[in-house]
Amino acid sequence: MTKSKNIRQTTLASKVSCSGIGLHSGSQVNLTIYPATVNTGIVFRRTDVSADIAVVPARYDVVSETRLGTTIRNKHGVTVATIEHLMAAIWGVGLDNAVVELDGPEVPIMDGSSEPFVFMLECVGLKQLAAPRMVLRVLKTIEVRDGESVARIQPNEEGDEGCIIGIEIQFNNPVINRQASHYDFREVTFKQTLSRARTFGFEHEVAALRQMGLALGGSLENAIVVGKEAILNEDGLRYQDEFVRHKALDCLGDLYLAGCHIDARFTFVRPGHAINNKLLRALFADETAYVMAPAGKEFELALAVAATAVAAYA
Ligand SMILES: [Zn+2]
Repeated sequence: MTKSKNIRQTTLASKVSCSGIGLHSGSQVNLTIYPATVNTGIVFRRTDVSADIAVVPARYDVVSETRLGTTIRNKHGVTVATIEHLMAAIWGVGLDNAVVELDGPEVPIMDGSSEPFVFMLECVGLKQLAAPRMVLRVLKTIEVRDGESVARIQPNEEGDEGCIIGIEIQFNNPVINRQASHYDFREVTFKQTLSRARTFGFEHEVAALRQMGLALGGSLENAIVVGKEAILNEDGLRYQDEFVRHKALDCLGDLYLAGCHIDARFTFVRPGHAINNKLLRALFADETAYVMAPAGKEFELALAVAATAVAAYA
């Protein structure tokens, strides 16, 4: 992603591991990301269930729950929850193919951001594979709405490549209020602009979530907790507008469930996991709205030259 775009598919140079607690379960999870072959995409594999039902692809069409994070579920009913911050990191570093193995039902929350995942992925680095990266190019505008939320995807200008996001959030809380921003990933990197932005929750909701058996692993170590007039975290915010940055991070993680990079302009107003998923479902439901093409103009040129050469011998 960003300035130096890969035109070939990538995988990890070697496996890498981390462990932490699940935000909702509160239990310890061990996670290892393995290199994978061309066209594998990102797949999750649970090691705590029998091997024949353990694989859950990171795809928009198996998203089963979006209320407190994004959960995917395979046809055997095996789920993986809270995948979005890891998916955002995987998108952010430009990783196309990997198997994410974990021994529980939820990706560890780490510090509530994508930074620990970016760090571990960068520690081992990427390896290029001998196949072009396929990129989804959007051909027409698709918009979905849900109450006051809007999610829109528009074609890039002619000849433009890359991902641009405009986003606005609005909370009836003086600490957050309205925050709006714009990220052009041809100019900025995910790592610099968004990766450190933490998830957040409201102090008055914490007790209710705990009563429902949720957010059991949540703490000031892995979330910003917003009170009536100030945040409870003593060290303050990592970015002055950390809330909107985190929402943008969530959007990117959810969008990477397309199974590929998307060249387009996105607009989000009061986004959430539900509408992010609805946008992808609407996009893929309309076959005239997109085309899959190899990344990079040089690659297209090379393919055209190769096709001409083949034609000359035909
Ligand atoms: Zn999040």
